[in-house]
Amino acid sequence: MKILVTGGAGYIGSTVVSELVKAGDDVVVIDNLSQGHRAAVHRDAIFIEGDLADRSLLDSIMAEHQPEGIMHFASNTLVGESVEKPFLYLGDNVRNGLNLLEGAIDHGVRRFILSSTANLFDDPERIPIAADERIVPGSPYGESKYLLERLLFWMDALYGLRYAALRYFNACGAASPDLGEDHDPETHLIPLVLQVALGQRNSLTIFGDNYDTSDGTCIRDYIHVLDLAQAHILALRALDEGSRVYNLGNGNGFSVKEVVEMARRVTGHPIPAVMGSRRPGDPATLIADSVAIRQELGWLPQFPDLRDIIESAWLWHSQHPHGYEE
Ligand code: UDP
Repeated sequence: MKILVTGGAGYIGSTVVSELVKAGDDVVVIDNLSQGHRAAVHRDAIFIEGDLADRSLLDSIMAEHQPEGIMHFASNTLVGESVEKPFLYLGDNVRNGLNLLEGAIDHGVRRFILSSTANLFDDPERIPIAADERIVPGSPYGESKYLLERLLFWMDALYGLRYAALRYFNACGAASPDLGEDHDPETHLIPLVLQVALGQRNSLTIFGDNYDTSDGTCIRDYIHVLDLAQAHILALRALDEGSRVYNLGNGNGFSVKEVVEMARRVTGHPIPAVMGSRRPGDPATLIADSVAIRQELGWLPQFPDLRDIIESAWLWHSQHPHGYEE
């Protein structure tokens, strides 16, 4: 298939682009490089530097390339920032998504995959969290993704655009030693821990150890980025049978302390950690129930083991200590 990938130079987008190319799909990437890296885009993908705010650019890309499907990763993605700058999220994320959807409908695109988020589940009634759990967005970021999910619902109902909304839990790991996570600023736990192991930071601050969990630190479901990529490809192929919404995680929760301890073992570095206060907006436990995608599409995470996840991330970070900038 010919697929337009927005944000295909970012961490998850570039991994999915690489897997699509390997699977034989033709890929066109649009990315404004505000967070993404040109070097992360697979050499066999067509790359266009541009912004989704530019509706006429989208029109010309769709007219020229006539994509059969769109995967939409391009987004502002930081929960904390979204509380400080809500219009970047409730404004830009939603407006850019609408531009893309209008373009998709105008140009007859029939398939759409949305990067969504576990930040829809700020107050879950059941853990693990299934896709039909009540939606309580935890921030303007989560709300912006939920609004896009609702827009997709109506695009399907009114125009027959088939979509999958994929709600990631904690994306992590690296697709290869040359394709990994490079954010600026970095806020995610595993890369920060590995930056300590590289000597780029003195210590890690653990955000609170008084949560109602086994060791008091927050529990998250860490899902390898290659497993996420496979879920996108399976969902894309299945869309003609109908739209769908899935939660993506490996179903195992690991505490912050367990992540730090595993990183110590993998890297052989003591990784000093100091205790800090809670980070606003962090729920104690987020674990996904991904039974639906496992049963319906046969998705089976290949890297559920925390050691494998951290080893793959460590290979990337230790071989590219300055990310793509070197
Ligand atoms: N965390 C931490 N120290 C840090 C960064 C993250 O203790 O410097 C914790 C954070 O509170 C959360 C977990 O690590 O419980 C995962 O955070 P991350 O930002 O990687 O992902 P999130 O769960 O926010 O999507």
